[in-house]
Amino acid sequence: MSTETFVSSHPATGHEVGRFPITDSEQVERTVESAANAAIWWQALGWKARESKLLAWNALLTQRIDEISELISNETGKPVSDARLEATLAIGHLSWAAKHAHKVLGGDARPPGLLMANMGARVDRVPFGVIGVIGPWNYPLFTPMGSIAYALAAGNAVVFKPSEYTPAVALYLSSTLSEIVPEVPLLQVITGHGATGQALCRSKVGKIAFTGSTATAKKVAAVCAESLKPMIAECGGKDAVIVASDANLALAAEQTVWAAMSNAGQSCIAAERVYVERSVAAEFIRLSSQVAETLKPGSDAKSSYGAATMASQIDIVEAHIKDAITRGGRLVMGGEESVQRPYVYPVIIADVPEDSIAMTEETFGPTICINTVDSIDEAIRLSNESRYGLGASVWSKHHGDEIASKLHCGMVSVNSTFAFTAVASVPFGGVGDSGYGRIHGPEGLLEFTFARSVVSRRFKPPLSFTTFKRTAKTDSTIKRLVKILHGR
Ligand code: NAD
Repeated sequence: MSTETFVSSHPATGHEVGRFPITDSEQVERTVESAANAAIWWQALGWKARESKLLAWNALLTQRIDEISELISNETGKPVSDARLEATLAIGHLSWAAKHAHKVLGGDARPPGLLMANMGARVDRVPFGVIGVIGPWNYPLFTPMGSIAYALAAGNAVVFKPSEYTPAVALYLSSTLSEIVPEVPLLQVITGHGATGQALCRSKVGKIAFTGSTATAKKVAAVCAESLKPMIAECGGKDAVIVASDANLALAAEQTVWAAMSNAGQSCIAAERVYVERSVAAEFIRLSSQVAETLKPGSDAKSSYGAATMASQIDIVEAHIKDAITRGGRLVMGGEESVQRPYVYPVIIADVPEDSIAMTEETFGPTICINTVDSIDEAIRLSNESRYGLGASVWSKHHGDEIASKLHCGMVSVNSTFAFTAVASVPFGGVGDSGYGRIHGPEGLLEFTFARSVVSRRFKPPLSFTTFKRTAKTDSTIKRLVKILHGR
């Protein structure tokens, strides 16, 4: 058994939040075993009891929202008000998952078809047993809750490996569920680094719900492939914003700067690239700068956003700014001097070449690239050229839905930003390097179950073909029937 530990601390002040064990593979195995027993107990409770326990848990989290927001702020460096917003979103999802699980997953009768009219047919949704959740640090409550709430509501137990930057938030979360469900360990946390996550992927969990970078998702997928373990991959993004000439420019600028820079730009669905139509480009850039000028990072309550949670990410942000400028990007606001560790001040760069890493790779900082296009078709083409395809945002008074329908990505917010995160009934996830599978909504519940088809004989069939006693007459009747049914 490992006795090694690691420390999590406030990214700006360095204040130690806590010291946590590094869970080794043997301990991971044992945890998953106890979770499997917990899952049996949980499934036997039935839909109604599970719903009421999850809602009681949600009420407890709501009562403790200030406490948990403080903890999120301490480990990530984000302002408490942002942490509270994050907790509010997580609470909304837990409530939705609890209330809708039975309706979405509670059995589904299917028509058997004419040839099989003597059979009853239904599809059961079966929980996997134990779900392994691996989470990132940028939204340490909201992001894993997108898997945890839906997995639990579907009847699974969860073993959660949080980011090494935010273990205290995870442990707090699991301790609150233990208060409501003291009987079994329904949500267990295993703290540690990548190796602990890898051990979870190799363990006997039924499915992995991974949220993190694309590079790590590929490693996780490779380990899951060893045992054909299914996984959900919620990865990075390079979200595009399309601003059409008929957009409400002031609102588009205000919300786009928020989407790019809130949480210090550390959002998988952050606005990273803007494509604005030429006739309104200058005005959009002016309005965006006006908004960004008012922002100030820091660690007090008045700060617009906090420090970079992971110090090494600042090197990437700095490299992207440098590359954009070197390749001819035009600095509208800030520049290399905006990097003042552990903070990055707002940076706006215009006319950035499409092959700059600032346009192709996830920056994850409070920076935004704004490029001018001659048409909406060009904006759509460039948006879709990215190897990522997580979210997008479209600003147009008359063509928003039409533009949205042409975007190759998992989620689109029209005349709004991030809106799909707060609508619990719609799925969240991406395509391409942004991953596969979905959390949230009915699709999110379905992800944590597998389909079991049950087809049962209700009465003696007029024609029996699953028998060695099949006659020539039966064969010719089947042939005639098939012709009538499908031959025209
Ligand atoms: P990361 O990939 O570094 O780590 C994610 C988690 O994986 C951590 O818990 C980490 O310890 C664990 N891990 C690392 N190596 C592992 C391995 N070999 N096997 C198993 N687990 C391993 O990501 P991060 O820096 O924590 O988070 C930031 C990234 O997450 C960004 O790319 C962001 O876009 C993405 N993200 C995506 C979503 C989404 O829903 N699509 C949401 C939030 C964040």
